[in-house]
Amino acid sequence: MTPLYRFACHACGASLSARLRVLGEPALLARHESHTWLVGESGFLPAGSALVPPGLGNQPGFHGWIAPQPRSRIALHPSWSRTVGCCGLSHSSFTDGNLVCARCGAEVGVGYEDCCGPHWAGLFERVALTTEEAPDPWPDEVGVRCDLLREILDASLPDGLAAPGRDWLRGSASACFFDPTSWDHAPHVEQPALSLAGSADAPELALTASSFPEGAGLRLPIPFVVLARLALVGEPPYGPPERPLPWQSSDAEGPEVNVARDAATGRVFLSVTGRDVNVTLRFDEGAWTGAWRALNAQLGGA
Ligand SMILES: [Zn+2]
Ligand SMILES: [Zn+2]
Repeated sequence: MTPLYRFACHACGASLSARLRVLGEPALLARHESHTWLVGESGFLPAGSALVPPGLGNQPGFHGWIAPQPRSRIALHPSWSRTVGCCGLSHSSFTDGNLVCARCGAEVGVGYEDCCGPHWAGLFERVALTTEEAPDPWPDEVGVRCDLLREILDASLPDGLAAPGRDWLRGSASACFFDPTSWDHAPHVEQPALSLAGSADAPELALTASSFPEGAGLRLPIPFVVLARLALVGEPPYGPPERPLPWQSSDAEGPEVNVARDAATGRVFLSVTGRDVNVTLRFDEGAWTGAWRALNAQLGGA
């Protein structure tokens, strides 16, 4: 049994997070990657943890650091002066909250989802924290598994995949993750499969599918922390359209990836945007999560 924690609004009691495990594994912390969550969806960094990056750890008044939450749980402060960034949520100070309880509007913390560095939500000390003992949601020896994953990546051979061709790689400008009604404009991927490529320092996901041309596949750079959270810990490989799962490879020039699921239609949308790439793809939810489950099984998961 492991202690699990849940943050709740100090004013109205609404849940501000799922049940979270304390993050004690540095391999699952994204210190440098932009457009990537500092911690995954199933963990949190307590304020006193030695793992909290210096800039955040020096800030008094915080309870802990979690992944950006769905807006249905934690909403943005109505004043733009507290939230405006050049391309996403930013903050003007560490004391004026820019995150509020979605139910009652109480200020609950400060969040960051702009372009430089990882995305996070810091919750104020006044926010309530409950704890309970429950089975550990993480696999045993996650640190050892991360080391193994690095070895597997370094041993992975060049896969010789050809890009799927112009029809597949032409991102549709009219398809965007925050608007599920636009997803019809993205090509539908049938029977997707995921395998590993690249190296431990620059991991890649190799995506193949029965609907791609023979021998074709798409290589998606992915930070090691995100790969470990999804393939080893089993965190959800998507977010809701208003807060998709984002990642950007360690190389700041790497493409930005967003993965969103529309719960109403059971569809998943993936967009890859960067200097030389603009791809949008659409999956059936079961096929996408099945591809991740198969990768997890390949890596010795349940
Ligand atoms: Zn509240
Ligand atoms: Zn920006």
